[in-house]
Amino acid sequence: ILDVAGRILKILTGTGEKVKIPDKPFILAAEDLLPSDAAQLKYPEVLGIALQKGSIHSHTAILAGNKGIPAMVGLGSGLDAGADGKTAVLDGLEGLMYVDPDSETLKRMEEKKKEWERHKERVRNPQGRQKSPAGAKTVRICANVGSVEDVRAARANGAQGVGLLRSEVFYLESACAPDEESQYIFYRNALKEMEGQDVVIRTFDLGGDKQVPWLGLPREENPALGLRGIRLALARPDLLKTQLKALYRAGVDGGLRIMYPMITSVEEIHRLRALERETKHELARDGIPFAQNIPTGIMIETPAAALLSMELAREADFFSIGTNDLTQYTLASDRQSEIGDELNDTGCRAVFKLIEMTAESAHKAGIKVCICGEMAADTRFTKKFIEIGIDELSVSPGKIPELREAAETIL
Ligand code: PEP
Ligand code: MG
Repeated sequence: ILDVAGRILKILTGTGEKVKIPDKPFILAAEDLLPSDAAQLKYPEVLGIALQKGSIHSHTAILAGNKGIPAMVGLGSGLDAGADGKTAVLDGLEGLMYVDPDSETLKRMEEKKKEWERHKERVRNPQGRQKSPAGAKTVRICANVGSVEDVRAARANGAQGVGLLRSEVFYLESACAPDEESQYIFYRNALKEMEGQDVVIRTFDLGGDKQVPWLGLPREENPALGLRGIRLALARPDLLKTQLKALYRAGVDGGLRIMYPMITSVEEIHRLRALERETKHELARDGIPFAQNIPTGIMIETPAAALLSMELAREADFFSIGTNDLTQYTLASDRQSEIGDELNDTGCRAVFKLIEMTAESAHKAGIKVCICGEMAADTRFTKKFIEIGIDELSVSPGKIPELREAAETIL
């Protein structure tokens, strides 16, 4: 609602879509930021983001991370308007922000930044990388992206594929429903950029906190539990069919995999299969070339999907576990709020049980399972993920080198 109201105001007052921003690189400090705004920011125009509200699992923080923009969220009243226009240092490693730092702090933090950059360079280009022995378990390390620039960053960081392309980012950046042709060009460019490696494109996961004014969605008391993800796509088959047409056309040269978000039942998949058939029939009728057999998987990000994973595995070509939503829905803990940021032991065990159950169902059915939520990048869990046979971990491009190093130490 805030997003819609803000945009209408901007249009009525003629200030356009863009907020006035300084002409030098700056740290963006605000009470909160909507995912649709975060989707439009670019590093290094924006050097960092500091927010009073929010959580590390919010889409705003995730989109900033994908773009390599350091972000601090949930700063509370510690951050106020007094910081405006002042020099500041944002230390994301410690979760500290220094406003108007003295020269000694500034020097110390500049040194720390250089050390961090050297560390990143080391993990990106390790000397004498160990090869895992033949027959050993391996885990593919892929990237989560939202744009073609992110795909480039994924390649630069050595991604073995794209495990999650959040297609809704393209929708969030559009002033109206994106048409088939513009989507086709976007998907084709993303696929080209990965040079034949797998690219998993998730159909639009709008609704919840990812609102676009042109959809005119009704106000909901609990949007995260409402018309979101696949529910919205099934309620608006026109939008989904346009997207599927663009995807099927873009997939002719291979590499493409499609994935549906927020699945909760087998019936949803049956309804999706009917829409897929209809879409292909229309493309064939119009004589448009398209890929017939694109592997199509589903996200396991609701407890319902994890519990039904045995049945769902018979219907899907692969699984991808979205731990951000799986955690919020399992623990009844809003991912938008800082309350849920620290996963305690009990919570962790509950989420892990669902992950294990999902991995077992996938492997029994002979399909692969990926983890693409933020947990995938948490190196405290890498060993456990490898032990339970997770086939792929998909993380923000900037987190790939660190994760690869952790995985290689274990393998
Ligand atoms: C997730 O829920 O873990 C996920 C990867 O999807 P998103 O963060 O886009 O909701
Ligand atoms: Mg999700």
